[in-house]
Amino acid sequence: MRKLGLLGGMSWESTLDYYRLINEGVRRERGSLHSAELLLYSVDFHPLEKMLQAGDWAGLEKALSTAAQTLEKGGAEALVICTNTMHNCAPEIEKTLEIPLLHIADATADALTRDEIKRVGLLGTAFTMEKDFYRGRLSDKYGLDVLVPGDDDRQLVHRVIFDELCLGITKEKSAAAYRRIIENMKEQGAEAVILGCTEIGMLLDGEQSSLPLYDTTKIHAARAVDFALGR
Ligand code: GLU
Repeated sequence: MRKLGLLGGMSWESTLDYYRLINEGVRRERGSLHSAELLLYSVDFHPLEKMLQAGDWAGLEKALSTAAQTLEKGGAEALVICTNTMHNCAPEIEKTLEIPLLHIADATADALTRDEIKRVGLLGTAFTMEKDFYRGRLSDKYGLDVLVPGDDDRQLVHRVIFDELCLGITKEKSAAAYRRIIENMKEQGAEAVILGCTEIGMLLDGEQSSLPLYDTTKIHAARAVDFALGR
């Protein structure tokens, strides 16, 4: 089995899901007491989140590259960054590593392409919904037509992520607001919605949603299992 290096803690609430999903995936494939070989570097999110809100991407690239290198030195054979937003730093982090980075947007785009989805809604932090590192990758590399909510709804989605979900808080009012936003995207022709933030799966379940949900935590964890098992 190949060793995974998880760069987590952003937030630790969703890193818990990664840990569980990856181990469940390995057990499903290999049976009995098999579990994933992995290293986890879990950061203190508070100072990093301050850098994020201040737009200090150079500081984030430096901090996350150092953590990723620690995983590589520890024997990790691939890097899994357990957050969509911090993939804005992926190109710089990759430059400092020999091991491959399993990109969350690539895994997600592959899942959508497999299901022949062309027009997709995207929910995530403001950075993920607005910056090119994510939307641009989905449209330029995979030809997906990506819809994001309007200004007010983007702010709402972003606020719920940092003020609630990253603190482990789930509110029915926020779930209802997300469902309304998804309904709007459906009216605009979206065939599915990407839960492009690793905590949104804590809030929404597919059964109550008017569109199929592509949960990036689950998709990325499955990609990590494939790598670990050499597939
Ligand atoms: N976990 C979140 C994501 O997937 C947001 C936290 C962060 O800024 O990394 O984007």
